[in-house]
Amino acid sequence: MKQLVVLSGKGGTGKTSISAALAFEIHQQLQQELVIIDADVDAANLALLYHPDVRMETIFVDAEVARIDDARCTACGICAETCRFDAVIPGTPYAIDPIACEGCAACTLVCPTQAISLQKEASGKWYVSQSPVGPMLHAELDPGGENSGKLVTLLKQQGTAASQENQAPIMLVDGPPGTGCPAIAACSGADLALLVTEPGLAAFLDLKRIHATAKHFNLPCVLCINKADINPSIKLQIMAWAAQENIPLIGEVDFDEQMLQCVLQGEIITQAYPLSKAARQIQALWPGVKTEFGL
Ligand code: SF4
Ligand code: SF4
Repeated sequence: MKQLVVLSGKGGTGKTSISAALAFEIHQQLQQELVIIDADVDAANLALLYHPDVRMETIFVDAEVARIDDARCTACGICAETCRFDAVIPGTPYAIDPIACEGCAACTLVCPTQAISLQKEASGKWYVSQSPVGPMLHAELDPGGENSGKLVTLLKQQGTAASQENQAPIMLVDGPPGTGCPAIAACSGADLALLVTEPGLAAFLDLKRIHATAKHFNLPCVLCINKADINPSIKLQIMAWAAQENIPLIGEVDFDEQMLQCVLQGEIITQAYPLSKAARQIQALWPGVKTEFGL
């Protein structure tokens, strides 16, 4: 099984639309089920395009937060003085703000009556679903939920098991924006990163950041420039940088009203409008990926 992670370093580049459309094209070409993972657990939206049938829903329990045993609290206030995260709410008894609590345990050590303990807290849900192209793993982290990197790792472990079970040739991971823990977890174990950018200064800067992250983990990268025709001068700068960094440019996708329509209607362009310009340009990414995979 080959693992492709799609990254952008920034939201709003069209990464998820391209991931979904590319997965659909790969499925068409191989006539085999793939495994797809939405690793953007903080703002998952691949399911909005794939409308998968949820087969299993599991609570994600990972974060630890402090809890005060009211009966033991003497309202001395030592915990509030100790907490660096302003997570203790004064009162009689004192209480903990579970959103602000980082689970550092400092308060548990100073409480003179041992009224505070750390408890596991549910911070989201993860799902095993069936999409039109194969098994799909996705999740929803609660607002303020922690450990998104761990949740991405869990999805990828489940995805790897599903790939083995289904003998899926490809696992496609729609990565999260940014370069933090979830992005690093999304890169882990991948064979290739497809970097999706758009010709804008902010996107270019974030592209360089995510490429530096991928490079740090020795992850080979290929590049796709989305909305490639909207800013020719920055597009040329991106192309020059990619050439300098030895990142193969495997495709460009021009701005296409039908792509926009698909986002608004929750559709996948290679499925809904396979003959549109953008769909044909996304279909053309697969040979580039295939070559890099040595397939
Ligand atoms: S340190 Fe313990 S006893 Fe004091 S206010 Fe906090 S929970 Fe209550
Ligand atoms: S566990 Fe840490 S962050 Fe949470 S309330 Fe206690 S001191 Fe504050």
